[in-house]
Amino acid sequence: MRLCVRCAQHERTCCQGTEVLVTDGDIARIAAYTGRHDFWEFRRPADPWYLTPQPADPNWLLYTARADGTRPVLKHQASGDCVFLTAQGCSLPLTVRPLVCRLYPYDYTERGITGTVPGCPLYLLEEGEDLFTALGMRLEEAQQWRRQLYQELRRGRVWRENRHHLRSAAGVPRRRLQRRRNGGVRPARDHRSPGSDAAAAGM
Ligand code: SF4
Repeated sequence: MRLCVRCAQHERTCCQGTEVLVTDGDIARIAAYTGRHDFWEFRRPADPWYLTPQPADPNWLLYTARADGTRPVLKHQASGDCVFLTAQGCSLPLTVRPLVCRLYPYDYTERGITGTVPGCPLYLLEEGEDLFTALGMRLEEAQQWRRQLYQELRRGRVWRENRHHLRSAAGVPRRRLQRRRNGGVRPARDHRSPGSDAAAAGM
């Protein structure tokens, strides 16, 4: 019996009550398979950990969370279970499941797979049984899915939106730089005091 089945008989599983991030690619694959478009939403996570900067993976938040703190995630059923969880387990085939589901419980960053996240019930492993063998997971497959995950995040709507905000914010120093090149003469639209102008120019 697979470890996930054993887990479901003993405790709440990773498919219950968690925030499952979806890429634009996940959304397209699931929509094509199910014919549904109502399975995901932008939602602010209840657990602030999801919005915590990840020093080991510095782009993660820019790829996954909008400026208002919302993230593209699968919806929950009233019970808190994932919208695709049934009594028989996940109703999506492996190659249609969100990439973060396929990768769990591997831990990873944009650079590679870094280890394992705590969460799987190791106490249910049989003597001498290895976690990933018990889950039926192969490292090569996980490496490929990790690469695909970050490729889709780098092309995704959240990163495009955040990149737009970053470029807009970067426009302010560019204007200051142009002014500095222009001998410190402020354009007519800048109504700040001369004192603040000198401070802004770093003089
Ligand atoms: S999509 Fe499937 S594997 Fe992922 S959380 Fe939902 S039920 Fe679990």
